[in-house]
Amino acid sequence: MTADVLIVGSGGAGVAGAIEAAGKGARVVVLEREAELGGAAAISGGGCCLVGTPLQRERGIVDSPDLAFADWVRFAGGAAEEEWARFYIEHTLHELYEWAQARGVSWVDLNQQEGNSVPRWHRPERGGAGLWHALHRAALSAGADTWLASTAATGLISDGGRIVGVRAQDLGAGKAVEFRATAVVMTTGGFASNLDMIYERCPHLREHRILEGSHVGARGEGHRIVENVGGVTTHMQELWLYMHSIPDYRDPRGRRGLVIRGIAEAIWVNSQGRRFHNESLSGGASGTPAVLRQEPAECWAILDSDMCQGVSVGDPYYYQEGSTNRDWAKVRTLLDESPDVRRSETLEGLSQQIGLPPGALVETVGRYNSSIEKGLKQDTDFGRLLAGLRPIARPPFYALHFCPLARKNLGGVKTNLRCQVLDKHYEPIPGLYAAGELAGMAGGHINGKAGLEGTMLGPSLFSGRVAGAWAARDAGCGTGFAGKPNRP
Ligand SMILES: Cc1cc2nc3c(=O)[nH]c(=O)nc-3n(C[C@H](O)[C@H](O)[C@H](O)COP(=O)(O)OP(=O)(O)OC[C@H]3O[C@@H](n4cnc5c(N)ncnc54)[C@H](O)[C@@H]3O)c2cc1C
Repeated sequence: MTADVLIVGSGGAGVAGAIEAAGKGARVVVLEREAELGGAAAISGGGCCLVGTPLQRERGIVDSPDLAFADWVRFAGGAAEEEWARFYIEHTLHELYEWAQARGVSWVDLNQQEGNSVPRWHRPERGGAGLWHALHRAALSAGADTWLASTAATGLISDGGRIVGVRAQDLGAGKAVEFRATAVVMTTGGFASNLDMIYERCPHLREHRILEGSHVGARGEGHRIVENVGGVTTHMQELWLYMHSIPDYRDPRGRRGLVIRGIAEAIWVNSQGRRFHNESLSGGASGTPAVLRQEPAECWAILDSDMCQGVSVGDPYYYQEGSTNRDWAKVRTLLDESPDVRRSETLEGLSQQIGLPPGALVETVGRYNSSIEKGLKQDTDFGRLLAGLRPIARPPFYALHFCPLARKNLGGVKTNLRCQVLDKHYEPIPGLYAAGELAGMAGGHINGKAGLEGTMLGPSLFSGRVAGAWAARDAGCGTGFAGKPNRP
């Protein structure tokens, strides 16, 4: 099969690239290794970091690309790809917010995530599924109508130094296939669901138990495919890990994890039965390093039966069919059956079950509860704001075994601002583009060491567009990406 633009991976960057390339008149073919299209994008929260939007203005929020850039660079710990960060931020209003809206995406809500001076995490209606399906429909209408599921790319075909196609495995038919194209856009996502690769590329994590936590297709196949033709990867050791996660008891390999939500009132205790952190800071740049400093690097979230009513699980298996509302029967079964969830009528009993030193948990919970009961604004140990929080009081009590979960890659394939893959001399490899999480969301490491949230999917969509436009130009379609920046 031949195409002008061959896109490998049907997630956020892939669908955006398909819209862009087909919209410019290119013949597009998309390959997807899984049976279902959509990748991490379609199971994600869908939140995008967007700046200077009508939704922000409606809520009286004053934001600007300069303010967002300053937050971004500060939070990234000196490691952001700043040219790409600026390029992305300045294009979020016209080329992401409005662009997606014009293709059927409704931006319905806003949150302020850690590290942001103002709320800019925009939630689309029906989360990532709503967003991805709207964009997929837009891609079909633009003429990108060849989407081959269960087709895994295995290598790139080059001719005289130019990439001219892809070797793949048709997983349904069990046979090798080849595709020829003028340009190839790799959008295969990250490797946060490949524990072997995590330990290989992130040696500092080898001493810890890490859970796999992205989409099942996030196995790092694209990284190896690009490296095999000389593409450079960078910041591969930077992973975005979440702490509010427990092992998935349904995974016979014992490797996958589940993100637990809805228990913001819980306290976290370490293996000594002591609190060690302000639990309201639970993000990848706050909660995770705090737990990684513990021996061992895990903790138990302690909650009571009232708080337990709020538990939800960030995984499609735990959602009601066709929505992101939780399926409480499945969540209840998890709470009853997982060996990483313990329950007892007394705190002492709970403490014994999880092997904490005698008396430590009762003392820790008592001290925390008394801060709330005395009406303190903040707990004196870790500065947690206590307004609206309830004491941990109503039995049965629960303990959830939190282990670090790899959700997103912050590093990846190095590209220029056209998303061309660069070789070790930082020269573009002709005919080869990379976007999305494979490219550290954009350019190799747009987030540096920490992301402001919404800075994974947003840049993946945007870089997918940029790659699709320049790949189409290689085939004589259009003039590349020319976005309208949001500048005064
Ligand atoms: C549960 C969850 C929630 C998230 N929520 C948010 C959020 O709210 N905001 C945010 O900014 N980010 C979020 N993220 C991260 C975000 O979804 C991803 O960073 C983004 O989807 C990356 O887009 P992508 O196109 O690069 O990769 P993906 O969307 O993962 O798509 C990659 C596709 O490539 C396919 N593929 C892999 N290898 C091959 C191969 N060899 N051949 C063919 N196809 C292949 C995969 O199967 C997959 O379908 C979340 C991630 C998860 C897992």
